[in-house]
Amino acid sequence: MKNAITVDLEDWYQGVGIPVSEWENYEKRLRIGFDKLMSLFKKHNVKATFFILGKVIEDHPDIIQEIIDDGHEIGCHGYSHKEVFLMDKAAFEKEISHCEDLIKPFNTSYVGYRAPYFSIDARSLWAIDVLKSHDFQYDSSIFPGDSKRTGIPGFRRDIHKLENGLTEVPISTFKVGSLDFALGGAYFRILPYKYITKTIRKINKQRPGMLYIHPWELDPEHPYLSFLSKRRRIPHYWNLNKTEKKLDRLLGNGKFVPLIDIVKQNENG
Ligand SMILES: [Zn+2]
Repeated sequence: MKNAITVDLEDWYQGVGIPVSEWENYEKRLRIGFDKLMSLFKKHNVKATFFILGKVIEDHPDIIQEIIDDGHEIGCHGYSHKEVFLMDKAAFEKEISHCEDLIKPFNTSYVGYRAPYFSIDARSLWAIDVLKSHDFQYDSSIFPGDSKRTGIPGFRRDIHKLENGLTEVPISTFKVGSLDFALGGAYFRILPYKYITKTIRKINKQRPGMLYIHPWELDPEHPYLSFLSKRRRIPHYWNLNKTEKKLDRLLGNGKFVPLIDIVKQNENG
């Protein structure tokens, strides 16, 4: 069974609730984690899917070019990392158009979309129509469960076509007790390696799995933000020094392909 590695391409301060207007005050360190990720992908001959934050295209055009040159899949992660359910349709569409303008000079276009914080849920399902009208081939934003902040409890966990025809690739989740957790991010760092592989094997009995990761998770030296809430701060900094080794082991033990390959394989049965 093939699985997918997806990278939400953003710097260490961009996905923790700090508004985009303040980002200039923080040290740009994307390159550190990005280089480690890319060397692991090269070592294991993995093609990944990068959901790229629009602001990152402005700050690091060199990084975007490297992703394209190495043949990875390009996806969109919005511009400002604001939750979709906190935007209205016009503001969301404006971000999407802005991101499209930013990627155009690279002579490529986005394949799929992933919302910041998986924030397409019952409050923001209108976003699916915007994505469809902008010719995305799939969305990978819906957390099929209850994560407290987002998610749609009871939502289908398999790749399927939504009512408007857009393909949805729900986040791979697993249950501990009655709670649902996403396969990736802090849980990839917190849970033991064997638990991760056991979870992937369990998911693979029914469907391909998808892991998500951020470059800053391979940069354990990035600054400590003591003002973040406990709920954000503790998982953000947990086990950062273990990510690189763990990912190296995982990539060496499986077959990982871009998300669009899994979507196409699913369509062809
Ligand atoms: Zn993100």
